[in-house]
Amino acid sequence: MSLADRARLTIDLDALAHNRAVVAAEAAGAEVAAVVKADAYGLGAGPIGRRLWAEGTRSFFVARTAEGEALRAALGERKATIYVLDGLLPGAAERLAAARLTPVLSTLPQAMAALALAAANGRYEAALQVDTGMNRQGLTLDAAQALLAAPGALRTLHVPLIVSHLGSATDPAEPRNAEQLARFRDVRALLPEARASFAASAGAFLGPDFRYDQVRAGVSLFGGGPFERPDPRLKAVATLEAPILDIRNLRPGDRVGYGQSFTAPAPMRVAVVAAGYADGVIRAAMGRGHAWAGGGLRRLLAVTMDLTVIDLGEAAASVGDMVEMVGPNALLDDLAAAAGTVAHEVLVRLSPRAERIYLRGA
Ligand SMILES: *Cc1c(COP(=O)(O)O)cnc(C)c1O
Repeated sequence: MSLADRARLTIDLDALAHNRAVVAAEAAGAEVAAVVKADAYGLGAGPIGRRLWAEGTRSFFVARTAEGEALRAALGERKATIYVLDGLLPGAAERLAAARLTPVLSTLPQAMAALALAAANGRYEAALQVDTGMNRQGLTLDAAQALLAAPGALRTLHVPLIVSHLGSATDPAEPRNAEQLARFRDVRALLPEARASFAASAGAFLGPDFRYDQVRAGVSLFGGGPFERPDPRLKAVATLEAPILDIRNLRPGDRVGYGQSFTAPAPMRVAVVAAGYADGVIRAAMGRGHAWAGGGLRRLLAVTMDLTVIDLGEAAASVGDMVEMVGPNALLDDLAAAAGTVAHEVLVRLSPRAERIYLRGA
C-alpha cells in the first residue's frame, strides 16, 4: 500500500449540477445566476463556470474585475453575461469593455461615471445595485431616483438589471427581510422594465416574494445549506480528505497539541491526519468539529498548520487510511458552525495545497 502523502480535494461537478437543479426548482422559473466570485468560492471558476454553462447558466457574478477577466477567458466563446459586483471602478472601464463584463454600479460616483460614458459613447450598459438595508453596496434609493430622473439619462444608459442584497436572509423569521422586500418594491418602481435580482442562495429559499426575475446563487450551488445548516437536498461538491500518518494510544492525563489544549480523560486512540489549517481545516473548530473516519464522526482534538489529531474511538482505522475532513459525511455547514463561521469561509479556505481532482461523470 502506498501512502498518499498529502490532502486531496475532490470537486464533484455532478453534485454541482444537482445543486443547481435543486436551486432552480426552488426558484420556480426565476433565472438562476451563478455567483462565482473568489475563484468560485475557491473551487475553480474555470471548471465550475464551464459546467454551470453546460447546465444552462447564462449569467454569472464575480466580485473583482480580474475575476471577470479570468472567467471570460475560461468560458471562451460562450456568450455568458458576466456581472462585476465591484462595479465601475476608476480606470476599469476599458478592462470591463475588453472582456465584455457588465459592471454592477454600486455607488453614486460609479453611476455618474457610467452616465458620462453613456453620454460620450452614445450608449453604455450597466446593472444597478440599490441598497435596501445592508449598508454595504448599492446606491441609496434617493440617489438612484435622482440618477434615473436626470434628463436623458436613460436614453444612453441602459440598465437591464436592478440588484439588491438581503442582510438577514439566512434567518427566515427575521422581520428585516420583509422590510428590505418592501424597499425593493420601491426600487423596482424606479425602473419597471429592468429585470430584478434580489435573492442570493438564502433568499431563493424564502418563498416566491423574494425570487423576482433572477436569483444569485453562490454557496448553495457548492453544497452549503441556504440557512447555515445542512440541507439534505444539496450534495457536497467539495471533499477534502487526508491520510492518517500515525495512530497513538493515550493514557489518562496525556495531553495533545499546542498548549496541550486537550487532555485525555481515559485511555484513548487518536489519529494524526495530514491536513491542518493550511489545508482548510478551520482551527477554530478544534474541540467541537468532526472529521469522518472508520465509518463515523470523530472529534477534532487539535488542529495545527499541517496536522489534525482526531479521536478515533473504537474505529477500525489504520495508518494510510483517508480521513474525510469536509465532504458528504463531515458536513460543510457543521464544520462552519463548529468554527463559528459560515460555509462560504470554509469553502474559500479549502486547500490550495491539496491535490485537486475534478469529477465530471455525467
Ligand atoms: C456573495 C453574493 C451573493 C451570493 O451569496 P450566497 O450566499 O453565496 O448565495 C449574491 N449576491 C451578492 C451581492 C453577493 O455579494
